[in-house]
Amino acid sequence: MRFDIVSLFPESFDIVRSLGVTGRAYARRLWSLAVWNPRDYTTDVHRTVDDRPYGGGPGMVMMAEPLEHAVGDAQAARRSALGNTRDAAVFLMSPAGRRFDQRCAARLVDEGGAILVCGRYEGVDQRFVDRCVTEPWSLGDFVLSGGEIPAMAIIDSAVRLLPGVLHDPDSAREDSFNTALSGLLDSPHYTRPEQYRGQGVPSILLSGHHANIAVWRREQSLRLTAAQRPDLIRQARERGLLSAADEAFLRSLPVNHPPGTANR
Ligand code: SAH
Repeated sequence: MRFDIVSLFPESFDIVRSLGVTGRAYARRLWSLAVWNPRDYTTDVHRTVDDRPYGGGPGMVMMAEPLEHAVGDAQAARRSALGNTRDAAVFLMSPAGRRFDQRCAARLVDEGGAILVCGRYEGVDQRFVDRCVTEPWSLGDFVLSGGEIPAMAIIDSAVRLLPGVLHDPDSAREDSFNTALSGLLDSPHYTRPEQYRGQGVPSILLSGHHANIAVWRREQSLRLTAAQRPDLIRQARERGLLSAADEAFLRSLPVNHPPGTANR
């Protein structure tokens, strides 16, 4: 998998290249990264990448031309490095985009990576978006000062899905949102010590009975998802991913109140 990033801050990406799971996978050449700086595609002495917005208003807007050249070079580099015949998808980091989720991460793995464009200032000229962007992607309903953190979050989520990246292949399988596991939230985890400030560990987890533990974890996932994210329960049900036992367990739960609202 290869990512090409368009960013005014190339050094940000040293973090995903060097630390933790993504860093180890990078050292093992399981994925690669190239960063294209729009500033390298400017023609004036000040290497200007932004200008004031038409129509007035605060802040600056990234100009289309340097961005389009950067994306063009990224596509060309991918073609020669990977032998791709089709252009890679170009995703713009944008709070106005489609909400990024685990399915998007899986798509990146299927497609061997993508080009991620990081905005700064007030955003980018819409004509660049219209001409070059496959889809804008948002990390969530909040505003950051640049697309670098969203791009790194997206890279991390895709890299950990690559075969061989996690020591234990089951750990990605059991993560929250995994559609193979009905897209439910992960169950709670416990580790040593067995007693922590007067609190023990659910006894089932100490029983060594793997089948019962699996049932307990499934029920915890269902309980947690029903409380925190009833939308995910509905989705799983619509996609036929809940068993009769799951449904019976859900019916046995007390009527749900969103956390913190039970006594209002
Ligand atoms: N004026 C814009 C915000 C610009 S923030 C607006 O109100 O929509 C500057 C850049 O940060 C954006 O171009 C985008 O690349 C990035 N960014 C900010 N918040 C983001 C989010 N939630 N998801 C993805 N990218 C985001």
